[in-house]
Amino acid sequence: MPTPIGHALFGLTVHLGAAEGEAARLDRARALAVVAAALAPDVDILFQFVDGRNHHNNETHSIGAAVMVGLLALLWARARGRIDAGRFGLAIGCGWFSHVVLDYLNKDTHPPIGIMALWPFSDAHYKFPWPPLRDVWRHFSFEATVHNLITTAWEIVVLLPLLLFVAHRTLRRGH
Ligand SMILES: [Zn+2]
Repeated sequence: MPTPIGHALFGLTVHLGAAEGEAARLDRARALAVVAAALAPDVDILFQFVDGRNHHNNETHSIGAAVMVGLLALLWARARGRIDAGRFGLAIGCGWFSHVVLDYLNKDTHPPIGIMALWPFSDAHYKFPWPPLRDVWRHFSFEATVHNLITTAWEIVVLLPLLLFVAHRTLRRGH
């Protein structure tokens, strides 16, 4: 799994790319909601406290979950009378799916390797064969701290220019 910083940077990129019009791009609540969607799939780490089994990188890390969350966001926005309910639902769904994409592209050292990206159509786990992003070590030690700091720095090196590029292109357009 990439770090929450990597997911937040990519989520913000998706927010800017999916928003139609400057008002939507500068809407902080909307940006926060998309970033929250980009971070949320990792709540599956907590599911093991329910039944003692490992659920990480399963159903929440999939196209099916992204579509469901996007539809729920659309229905919620429509119930609140938002005229941009469709675009809002699409942005939330894309934010969630951005997590799936990043997790597909990072190195995984915890079996089962990969994510259940095509659930509910398939329970298979998928992983990009030459992952450009590093893994996160999930224990506390000096080595793990150094490793995870380098992982975070590398994510910033890769993902911040992408965010700045999309921000430059979309905010400059101004409509
Ligand atoms: Zn994840």
